[in-house]
Amino acid sequence: MTDCPTPYKLSFRSKAAAARWHRRVSMRGKDTRLYPYQCAAGHWHLTHGQPGWNDIPRGVDAELTDIARRAADRFPEAMVTAQGWTRDELIDAILTRLRNKYRHMRDTNQLERDSDGRIGFKGVDR
Ligand SMILES: [Zn+2]
Repeated sequence: MTDCPTPYKLSFRSKAAAARWHRRVSMRGKDTRLYPYQCAAGHWHLTHGQPGWNDIPRGVDAELTDIARRAADRFPEAMVTAQGWTRDELIDAILTRLRNKYRHMRDTNQLERDSDGRIGFKGVDR
């Protein structure tokens, strides 16, 4: 299981638990625009973002998958099995980290899209 990328946020065991908590604070007249989403670590958080904000564009995800595969390939088979992993699990673990990193950079406004639609670091010429 992956570490929570946002441990400072309130977390809930289920979507229903997140929704219950949200209903309770809404009734006290607080901001009502919060949406539950499932964290990479398995539990649930609430976000101000619209539903779907957590999605990664398909092209970006394909690129991240490719990077994860190449990174996993650098580890010899013997080393992977000695850790009790399969290669697919290793790829998966690397990919999850890359996806979290991507989401974090996007959410903290460090990424931008150029005129060709490619996503890159803000202020860096490609
Ligand atoms: Zn979390």
